[in-house]
Amino acid sequence: MIFPYPWAETVLPNGLLVVAIPLDTPGLAGHYVAVRTGSRNETEPGRSGFAHFFEHMMFRGTPRYPPERYNDVLKRLGADGNAFTTDDWTCYHVVAASSALDVVMDLESDRFMNLEYGVEAFQKEAAAVLGEYNKNASIPFNALFEKLHDTAYTTHTYKHTTMGFLKDIEDMPNQFEHSLSFFERWYRADNARPRGGGRRRPGEGVRSRTPVLRRVAAGNRSVHDAGRAQAGGGAIGAHRVARADPPAARDRVPQPGVRPRLA
Ligand SMILES: [Zn+2]
Repeated sequence: MIFPYPWAETVLPNGLLVVAIPLDTPGLAGHYVAVRTGSRNETEPGRSGFAHFFEHMMFRGTPRYPPERYNDVLKRLGADGNAFTTDDWTCYHVVAASSALDVVMDLESDRFMNLEYGVEAFQKEAAAVLGEYNKNASIPFNALFEKLHDTAYTTHTYKHTTMGFLKDIEDMPNQFEHSLSFFERWYRADNARPRGGGRRRPGEGVRSRTPVLRRVAAGNRSVHDAGRAQAGGGAIGAHRVARADPPAARDRVPQPGVRPRLA
């Protein structure tokens, strides 16, 4: 068995699949939101590294919870939160007292619906990502890994690392408009997977919080298969975006083994 714990799944009307995992962690709960979008989804030329960059933008706040307030709420709860991006998915995670789960879910669903930032904040974060690239580039293994992928993959988007090609990172300050469409395209109910782990019975956390999670926007399924493009030797395909496909039609992206992830 790959995953040794029982879990309960609930699909909400907006297509959001919520997974509750009871764990013997008295008083503590983990809240993870997995977005099924990583650097493998960056099929458009000049846009590599954007999934990771956008993970940074998700901490830029909403009208209800500007960044300082978001951090303050978590601090007052004694909660620990962060995020990371991989080639295949992006994860937002918080560990807090299980009694604080309502607040955590309110925080997380709010930024999935009402994220708000301007050009100035966007460009500032782009500079931070370039700094992160430069810091990582000083580690010899990263340079080797970057070259290995660039050489091994001719068509699949694994050709670039999660960080992205340096020339694309340098161009990120000019991609404000793309960032808005990126949020619209990928950060939707049927592309996210909230997972809660803690000392609750299966389904209990889901039922009581369904009204909050239902508010996350529905529809907008994104379809592409970069893996097929590599296997067939064809060009990297562009995204095709369709609205409100039925949940049964969702594509299932296989999860490969452990891969590097970026904070
Ligand atoms: Zn980062």
